Amino acid sequence: MKLYELTISQLSELLNKKEVSVLELTRSVLERIREVEHKIGCYINIIEEKSLDRASEVQKKFAAGEFSSPLTGIPMAVKDNICTNGIPTTCGSKMLSNFIPPYDATVISKLYDNGAILLGKLNMDEFAMGNTTESSYFKCTKNPWNAERVPGGSSGGSAAAIAAGEAIYSLGSDTGGSIRQPASFCGIVGMKPTYGSVSRFGLVACASSLDQIGPISKDVTDCALVLNAIAGQDPMDPTSSSIRYPDYRKALINDVKGVKIGIPKEFINANLDEDIRKALFNTIKVFMDLGAECEEFSIPVMEYVIPVYCIISFAEASSNLGRYDGIKYGYRAEDYTDLVDLYKKTRGEAFGAEVKRRIIIGTYVLSSEQYNKYYKKALQARRVISEEFKKAFEKYNLIMGPASPVTAFKFNEKTDDPFEKYKGDMFTAPANIAGLPAMTVPCGIDRDGFPIGLQFIGKRFDESMLIRTAYTFEQNTKFHKNIPTV
Ligand code: GLN
Repeated sequence: MKLYELTISQLSELLNKKEVSVLELTRSVLERIREVEHKIGCYINIIEEKSLDRASEVQKKFAAGEFSSPLTGIPMAVKDNICTNGIPTTCGSKMLSNFIPPYDATVISKLYDNGAILLGKLNMDEFAMGNTTESSYFKCTKNPWNAERVPGGSSGGSAAAIAAGEAIYSLGSDTGGSIRQPASFCGIVGMKPTYGSVSRFGLVACASSLDQIGPISKDVTDCALVLNAIAGQDPMDPTSSSIRYPDYRKALINDVKGVKIGIPKEFINANLDEDIRKALFNTIKVFMDLGAECEEFSIPVMEYVIPVYCIISFAEASSNLGRYDGIKYGYRAEDYTDLVDLYKKTRGEAFGAEVKRRIIIGTYVLSSEQYNKYYKKALQARRVISEEFKKAFEKYNLIMGPASPVTAFKFNEKTDDPFEKYKGDMFTAPANIAGLPAMTVPCGIDRDGFPIGLQFIGKRFDESMLIRTAYTFEQNTKFHKNIPTV
């Protein structure tokens, strides 16, 4: 096997045994990028020189015993809405195409403290709005399983990079499913941690009450290792929680005996691809054979998930994106007559269609005439949805279902009706609405050979239960071993 094909835990062992050096490993992944990036297009910016310099520096410190994390010396990359000091952070938008942050996001500082090697910044839907990565201003990322298919989104670059071996692990952000859906389309592991468990400082906001940064990796063990490094309270993010964060490696237990898994009827009966439903039933059987208890139950409010998600996320996005006015940073229109004209032209020229659509709808639902009818109602419904999940967790340790109603589809296939597209988030958005942790792992292959993703949703701050269950599934099945040939 080539180095870029290995996991964090495997590579960390090789580094520790001195069978490979940090520089060799970094070179191997950069070589892989050179070999396949023209086919995949997952990077917006590759920082080859910087990463080689960093690799030499980390190698020295590692040899001197200064680093002891399993992430030390491991090459990785992050979604381009996570701020990196001195390295452009574009959010996949023309608006920020010239933006170079003067600081690092907290997750970046934490990964650096663990000895991580940053290779570059990954493609995404503009401002994390979308589920195909087609709305990026820069390019379309291809699904490593088939270049005619989307990698999912909005963290499509982050997922494609891992499936294609162009980084060992990555970070994405998830507002309504943007880590989990692309991870499932690319046949890998993705986790959206509990809201408040990973600092959002330095994450360019999409919808602040829903956004969360999380790991994308080749297997569950790697997911736990990355989560260990990035989770924790941060004084720079007042929404980050002060709980005592466990060592998630302790949850890597191959045992689900007695674990109670609830499967919402609304997930099974949804308009679901037949192969995905089959994979779900097959998974239920695997868990029953392993001694878990699986039971169907009902979450009647499921039908409100997408309307609530759209109203809240568009409202927050419209407010967050108000700051891009061409004055302090970002794009500025060239010809304008006065200040208002400058605002209009800057925003008109630099935002793409999906971003504009959401700003318009978001502004409308927040307007004084419509506020009670839409925004306030959505907040009330959000509370009801959260309560229903809370109730479900009185009975179940976790909730299981598909990550997406479909597998990776073709480019331009779902672009006409935006509301049809929003429905693709129906299984993932509930975890964001209720602030719950959720995770996807591969659980099958559809009739055309594309990966199917399984999703677990857990109690607040119970990432350990997700990791344990996903790990057990992984140890007893072979789906994670399927990798695309690029
Ligand atoms: N696909 C969803 C959307 O378009 C989720 C986006 C995200 O999680 N950032 O809003």
